[in-house]
Amino acid sequence: MPFICENVECRAVLARGQVRSSYEDDGWCFYCPDCKVRNELKDISAPGSPVELAQPEKSVLPHKVIATARPLDDGRYAAQLRVQRALGVRGTYAVEEHWEQLGVFLDAQEAIAHAKSFATDLLERKA
Ligand SMILES: [Zn+2]
Repeated sequence: MPFICENVECRAVLARGQVRSSYEDDGWCFYCPDCKVRNELKDISAPGSPVELAQPEKSVLPHKVIATARPLDDGRYAAQLRVQRALGVRGTYAVEEHWEQLGVFLDAQEAIAHAKSFATDLLERKA
């Protein structure tokens, strides 16, 4: 089985020969040759057998949250959110959802915080 990069913007499908696995303090991993993101691996071999590496199944699909605050003409800020999510099917497909205005805030930081908490709720609900 090939490895698949967990970076939602990359999702490269990599033959085992294309990646170099390495052992670090946090355990086995490989770095995607395309995007350089660290991908976790685990050793699934029986005790005493040679190392056999597999990608752990993630309970949450890879995703990326982009929360921003858009300045409005009246000096307030609209909370905006983009969520990119890999599809359940393994492969290089992702869906993007976006919200232009989740609410209007006096402060840019508040707008961003609101967008982020909205994203957290959303991801938990669909997980
Ligand atoms: Zn990658």
